[in-house]
Amino acid sequence: MLSTRLKPPFAKLLAHATLAEGPHEEIPINAPFTGDVFGCVPAAQEPDVELATSRARAAQSAWAATSFSNRARIFLRFHDLLLARQDEILDIIQLETGKARRHAFEEILDTAGVSRYYARRAQDLLRPLRRRGAFPLLTKTLEVRVPYGVVGCIVPWNYPLNLAITDAIPALIAGNAVVMKPDHQTTFTALWAVGLLREAGLPADVLQVVTGDGAKVGPMLLDRVDFIMFTGSTRTGKMVAKPAGERLIGCSLELGGKNPMIVLADASLDRTVGGALHGCFVGAGQVCVSIERIYVHESVFGAFVAKFAEGARALKLGAALDYSVDVGSLTSPRQLQTVEAHVRDALHRGAKLQAGGKRRTDIGPLFYEPTIFTGVDESMRMFAEETFGPVVAVYPFTTVDDAIGRANATQFGLNASIWTRDTAAAIELAKRIRSGSVNINDTYIATWGSVDAPFGGMKESGVGCRHGAEGILKYTEPQTIAVQRLVPLSLPPGPVAKTQARFLTVVMKLMRYLRM
Ligand code: NAD
Repeated sequence: MLSTRLKPPFAKLLAHATLAEGPHEEIPINAPFTGDVFGCVPAAQEPDVELATSRARAAQSAWAATSFSNRARIFLRFHDLLLARQDEILDIIQLETGKARRHAFEEILDTAGVSRYYARRAQDLLRPLRRRGAFPLLTKTLEVRVPYGVVGCIVPWNYPLNLAITDAIPALIAGNAVVMKPDHQTTFTALWAVGLLREAGLPADVLQVVTGDGAKVGPMLLDRVDFIMFTGSTRTGKMVAKPAGERLIGCSLELGGKNPMIVLADASLDRTVGGALHGCFVGAGQVCVSIERIYVHESVFGAFVAKFAEGARALKLGAALDYSVDVGSLTSPRQLQTVEAHVRDALHRGAKLQAGGKRRTDIGPLFYEPTIFTGVDESMRMFAEETFGPVVAVYPFTTVDDAIGRANATQFGLNASIWTRDTAAAIELAKRIRSGSVNINDTYIATWGSVDAPFGGMKESGVGCRHGAEGILKYTEPQTIAVQRLVPLSLPPGPVAKTQARFLTVVMKLMRYLRM
């Protein structure tokens, strides 16, 4: 079944990419499930990126002049089409990433949810605001939001539908045009989704896609756009921030994590283990918000590790294009190398393997068992480095202060999780964790799915946020417009200046008295 389903019409999808005239080198793309090449992606050059950005720029002002209700209609239609045709895109996501269908489905839910949220809320979030004028009655002041123009979106391979589309949607609804650069591994998912947006009524030129290798195409895009939305590793994020700084364009960076989970003594063991199995092994651990460190109160440490390891061993690995398997494949040989290097290093330095620890070539070239370690210490790579694979270290703790201290002892601050029956106390603990999101009795979906609230990283996990008001306001610049009435605020020439100065002084005192 796999071999027949793995043949979508990829050449047709390339019609949604922007390619200048002339030959293009092609990058062969392998399916993680089998290792076979399933398609080729054109390597964009300078003329392609120039064409995409100039088309986007030419289309932007007419798009910004359309009504909010017109824009909202397009994204609500996209929402409906995506839910109706989810099986098509689930196949492509699985083909390109190797993830299990149950994990790919999370991308459908979130993409539809974000689309609906901004379609419904954008007009209100971006409405012009009356601000207090310099002097009441004399100055009428408005704050309006102006789109940047052309926004570049650089997208990673791990959530290829979700991160391609949900960052582009608020940029578009705010009146920008977008040039997207998906990761070369997952180009076809992005192209399919862009095709669906066009089918939903989005004018073709306001959303352009450039394809190819990020290290080459990314800098060309950065030279041309007015704002950059980047999602990827902290290392590349720093490389993106530099030219953005030199050009003085805004940027929003969603970067890596080394996310902790804290299990308090009173937590329900069954629920916590269930949460950990999902939070650690979703997408084979290749999720920015997945859990890589678990701190368990010493009184329940043994019971937790035993049950967690038993659960991990029972997870079904596989390459099925349906909901029958629990965990899929790693996506690239590069990820496999990192996972194997971290596991080898931990074993070599004396960590104790509780589950997994092996590659599963009997299933496919990049499958790796859900892997649990105890006894990990500072000397080991997996202690502080992001593994981005199905590997987690479990540590005992004695006091809550100790657990919070260890959760915070990292360069990252993306996501965290606390498990306890005392949710009021957990909210207070959450405030002590330096992390953009903290989930209580969940690992990441509770915060990630709350699209009305901002989602972003602290410390080296990022700058800026997606979701909520922040997730759309960031694609606009505030502009203040003030109308001065009756009396000018500058003092006129001649002796009348003194009278006016006195008048303004009285007004100032009155404002103080009236608590304005
Ligand atoms: P990556 O940094 O290697 O690549 C991300 C994107 O940047 C890709 O599209 C790539 O082609 C492009 N790119 C590569 N070099 C570039 C350059 N010099 N200039 C501009 N663009 C360039 O990251 P990855 O390995 O693809 O993704 C995994 C990382 O992303 C992990 O660290 C993960 O935690 C992080 N991530 C973060 C979030 C979040 O929301 N915070 C979400 C998903 C992934």
